[in-house]
Amino acid sequence: MEGVIGTLKSTGVNAALMIKVPTPFHVGDVNVYVLGDTFIDTGPKTVDAMAVLKTRDVTSIKNVLITHGHVDHHGAALYMKKISNCRVFVHKNDFLAVSDYKNELERKSKDYVQFLEKSGIQKGFISMFEQYYTGFKEYGEGCEVELLPDTFETETGVITVIHTPGHTGGSCCFYVDDILYTGDTLLPTISTNPSIHAVFDDTCGLKNYQQSLKALLPLKVNKCFPGHGGVINDHKKRIQQIFKGHNQRREVVMNSLSELGKKGIVFMGGSYDSQTEYLFSRLNEVKPAMVEEATQNAREVAQKFATDSKSSLGKIKKAYQGQFSIESRDKNNPHIKKIRVVSTIEYYLSD
Ligand SMILES: [Zn+2]
Repeated sequence: MEGVIGTLKSTGVNAALMIKVPTPFHVGDVNVYVLGDTFIDTGPKTVDAMAVLKTRDVTSIKNVLITHGHVDHHGAALYMKKISNCRVFVHKNDFLAVSDYKNELERKSKDYVQFLEKSGIQKGFISMFEQYYTGFKEYGEGCEVELLPDTFETETGVITVIHTPGHTGGSCCFYVDDILYTGDTLLPTISTNPSIHAVFDDTCGLKNYQQSLKALLPLKVNKCFPGHGGVINDHKKRIQQIFKGHNQRREVVMNSLSELGKKGIVFMGGSYDSQTEYLFSRLNEVKPAMVEEATQNAREVAQKFATDSKSSLGKIKKAYQGQFSIESRDKNNPHIKKIRVVSTIEYYLSD
């Protein structure tokens, strides 16, 4: 796949180059930016991606700034380092994702598998997922990295690093004059996924992501250069669109939850560790049959007692419908309920 190279002019002194680097992923090309001696992101470690990177004079690169620890953005960092001996920088929250790429992928995979098992997902799907996820190993290589400073000097100007956690815990935007390089934090057409790692990492997730977007709103931005897709001309408008999308989805989820609630399924707590609680809501439907059965059983027992004591069983003297109890069949099957009724029935006996 051919990389498309074009020049992006900002209003200030900076002129950056956008390189469209192919990826084997569904998202398509990743944007790599060249600001003089500094690269923003590298693309993945694939033959196609490296062929496109080679079209630039990679030997003169001094620095690579990684927007976040996803392999489509940093996979070729070691390749760049080997050619140019450049320094590679990433936020501390994504440090291991880049420096210890393969082991970190294994660790995350285990966490996901545990989460999927706990969520009751079928075994077949889980092993398919595990295979797919650990398959990402081939697209990157662990690389020696340094922590991103707050500001960074390049040949073309000073970059201000803005930490924008959400998509990953270490996602960053790079601000130069009135240009914002947004990585995956702000994309023109795709809605950024802020939830994958949130399962076990509270430095990312929707809440952090929304806070990060809010922090970008007041910035004076002429253009945003994202990690995928084309230039964003109005960052405020795009952020508002994203918030609108979140609100619409929240409504759909809340409505679905209330539908489930009506069926007697109640969701507890706000953490991913919370167990779903299942309540049985059809007691009134089963009550008459259970009472009838309990009365019948009581009569049989009383009859036996009467026979044994050579008496004859009379009418019912007193009857208490009794107490109903509902409990889970066992701790692994909270959705299967055991319902019991204890009735007390007194009979007259005559000799
Ligand atoms: Zn990403």
